[in-house]
Amino acid sequence: MPVCEICGEDVSEVKECKMCGVIFCQDCGDFERELCEDCIFEMENGGEDEEDFDIEDEENFFDEDEEDFFEDEDDEW
Ligand SMILES: [Zn+2]
Ligand SMILES: [Zn+2]
Repeated sequence: MPVCEICGEDVSEVKECKMCGVIFCQDCGDFERELCEDCIFEMENGGEDEEDFDIEDEENFFDEDEEDFFEDEDDEW
């Protein structure tokens, strides 16, 4: 009997994840997509790098607002 590398159970059928190559059972992934639960989770949540990029964009936006604020103050002085 094949063994699932994720849950460690003896199962009748396993698949190899096409993303990370782990052997998983039906409980630990999607047989139709040939993806383990870890890779499905990563795909559904998108890349972490993209999320960081969005946060950086927002920070830059605030920085620009602050600069405008200081410029206005200089004009008044
Ligand atoms: Zn499993
Ligand atoms: Zn995987």
